Amino acid sequence: MSELPYSYEAPASQALFDRAAAVTPGGVNSPVRAFRAVGGTPRFMVSGSGPYLTDSDGREYVDLVCSWGPMILGHAHPEVIAAVQEAVARGTSFGTPGEGEVALAEEMVARIEPLEQVRLVSSGTEATMSAIRLARGFTQRSKVIKFAGCYHGHVDALLASAGSGVATFALPDTPGVTGAQAGDTIVLPYNDLDAVRAAFAAHPGEIACVITEASPGNMGVVPPLPGFNQGLKDACAANGALYISDEVMTGFRTSRAGWYGVDGVRPDLMTFGKVMGGGFPAAAFGGRADVMAHLAPVGPVYQAGTLSGNPVATAAGLAQLRLLDDAAYEKVNAVSAQIQSLVTEALTKEGVAHTLQNASNMFSVFFTENPVRDYDDAKQQESFRFTAFFHSLLANGVYLPPSSFESWFVSTAHDERAVQRIADALPAAARAAAEATA
Ligand code: PLP
Repeated sequence: MSELPYSYEAPASQALFDRAAAVTPGGVNSPVRAFRAVGGTPRFMVSGSGPYLTDSDGREYVDLVCSWGPMILGHAHPEVIAAVQEAVARGTSFGTPGEGEVALAEEMVARIEPLEQVRLVSSGTEATMSAIRLARGFTQRSKVIKFAGCYHGHVDALLASAGSGVATFALPDTPGVTGAQAGDTIVLPYNDLDAVRAAFAAHPGEIACVITEASPGNMGVVPPLPGFNQGLKDACAANGALYISDEVMTGFRTSRAGWYGVDGVRPDLMTFGKVMGGGFPAAAFGGRADVMAHLAPVGPVYQAGTLSGNPVATAAGLAQLRLLDDAAYEKVNAVSAQIQSLVTEALTKEGVAHTLQNASNMFSVFFTENPVRDYDDAKQQESFRFTAFFHSLLANGVYLPPSSFESWFVSTAHDERAVQRIADALPAAARAAAEATA
């Protein structure tokens, strides 16, 4: 820590981190939380309120991670908390069907026209894993196309060239994934329709599905070029494959109907998580009713979960979705735009080469002057500048994702005071980025 001049000690977090490291690999339950890409002590948070997090040392931060997307109304929103308290008092899990899961599914289906049916699960990983299995079962084909830099959770077959933590740690291939598990995965460069058409031509009748992040946020924010998603859909339709849009990150965040509400391209299957769980483990996959009819107990494709449709998680998710009306999206989009301008202004003033990219209210900064269209472009950035920028902001009470390959997230709770605190912290952070050396 002491070699980071712009950081400061965080003794209570460090003590917890030391305890954690004794009983948990790397001291964390999800790799990116360990701060390995940026160094220093991960902050152990004890509470959240609106746009703020408070760590074990009692320091408050403006949160630009929002639990990696879910907390779109901010932390501890009173109406979400009330719904959770009401649900939890009735019991935490029944292992039977319940009304809450029906209501959550109805709310989702009502918002997204191509979503005819959904099946609830507990994590985004489960959602994408199940959607791929269903696509293979439905088409009776094996191969899957995915894109380099897209992250779909830690599904064995989808870890090849994945973004997010896999990108952060530059893991080439993950040990433990066998050749057989990854052998049917075709990894292509993002935003390259010619590569997709060539893959279909090379494997006639073998490709079950194309899975893509609706608008990627796991190699930093790299939106689809105009026509890319429609091109994927058309290539799938022409070749008897399914188009799976992974909306775990974008779903109910980028608009009330997620990225579908932005680009209107109809997927055959979709996956969701994050916002729909209101901060609890709830996720889903769904889409065409004729495809979903292949799932057990109606069809032969098996899929199940002890805690699927959990009553507390569905109550939280439903309460959050019901609060997400047009005004809420206008608010989160406006505050996101305001923060984006502040970041650009501060970096420009210090002459730091950067490209800020957004997808509705999701955004991230790449420390390169070139536009980033795929994973190779993303890897060209000067990540050492991000490290300096990150630590300066952290020292001044602004909590960014601890990696330059991640989206930043804001909420409806980010008010003038929170924005002002970011504005106050940015000049020093931009200076630190300008002065950083590799
Ligand atoms: N798909 C996308 C696009 C994601 O961003 C993530 C997680 O960040 C996942 C899937 C996996 O979700 P989970 O972490 O809930 O398993």
